Amino acid sequence: MAEKLDCVVVGAGVVGLAIARALTLAGRDVIVLEAEARIGMHSSSRNSEVIHAGIYYPEHSLKARLCVRGRQLLYDYCTERNVDHQRIGKLIVATREDELDKLRKIQQQGLKNGVDDLRMMNADEIGEIEPNVECVSALYSPSTGIVDSHALMLALQTDVEAHGNEVVLNSEVTNLNTAGQGLRFECGDAAFVCKTLVNSAGLGAQALALSGDRPRGGLLQNAGGSIPVGAHSRQAGSRHAGDFPGLLQHYFAKGHYFAYQGKSPFKHLIYPLPIDGGLGIHATNDLAGDSGQT
Ligand SMILES: Cc1cc2nc3c(=O)[nH]c(=O)nc-3n(C[C@H](O)[C@H](O)[C@H](O)COP(=O)(O)OP(=O)(O)OC[C@H]3O[C@@H](n4cnc5c(N)ncnc54)[C@H](O)[C@@H]3O)c2cc1C
Repeated sequence: MAEKLDCVVVGAGVVGLAIARALTLAGRDVIVLEAEARIGMHSSSRNSEVIHAGIYYPEHSLKARLCVRGRQLLYDYCTERNVDHQRIGKLIVATREDELDKLRKIQQQGLKNGVDDLRMMNADEIGEIEPNVECVSALYSPSTGIVDSHALMLALQTDVEAHGNEVVLNSEVTNLNTAGQGLRFECGDAAFVCKTLVNSAGLGAQALALSGDRPRGGLLQNAGGSIPVGAHSRQAGSRHAGDFPGLLQHYFAKGHYFAYQGKSPFKHLIYPLPIDGGLGIHATNDLAGDSGQT
């Protein structure tokens, strides 16, 4: 007999914890199930901890809207909950005259997205604030910042638990299926049925969506949003993403980090003009003032 639950969030990364907090504040009974022994062990603890302004995305896209609004909400939340963060600002740097057009287009794109504080600076102005940067011109984004991602996740978890809801570790969710109006899944030796399930399992989201034995396109779309399609599908047993035409393609991308010894030579985040498929090799600072390149 499957135990009945109200709302289950799969994955205690930053996304799952933030969703669990929102559901908690909306008055739902929430349980977060996390496969690992600690929260945030995957992408959420392996990133640059940059609070992005929302400059590059196409206007009206979900990414643009969520990034601009989310950035404001994130700064407010960090201030309210004493999560360490700094609005250190970012420079997108043109090192050649023929890059200036592209830089202006990035500024226009930012404006279209509602990033209205971008400012073009000339080489002399840059020299005053970043003497170690050599460039022709740069676009300054004062609302880009950095955050202590671990402290952020702990604050979110605390909010969930303070309202009587739970984050349960060492609990991998498997065998996800629809069941009447709800969803059925397994965790360890036990089976559960819930009214709402949020699949925020990160790179495991696709495997989870494909893990059940009664394939339903609706379930896949509802459970995982834009369900990733790729290598993970083959690990999920008999079901694989190719059986569900129309689902969005998942493209994996890998980042490399190089760390400086000692203090960063820069006060701001320094980015080149973006390249196809990425932001280019950029220098980021952490909250201790140490620097790395991605
Ligand atoms: C190199 C790099 C740099 C980045 N830099 C930035 C940046 O500067 N700023 C920014 O905003 N974003 C950045 N990102 C993106 C950001 O890190 C991710 O968008 C974010 O961490 C995703 O969080 P998540 O909660 O969706 O996934 P995750 O953190 O991966 O969490 C998913 C969780 O689900 C759990 N899980 C998986 N399957 C199951 C299951 N079946 N049952 C139970 N639990 C399960 C996993 O154990 C994991 O804890 C970067 C990403 C990379 C790779």
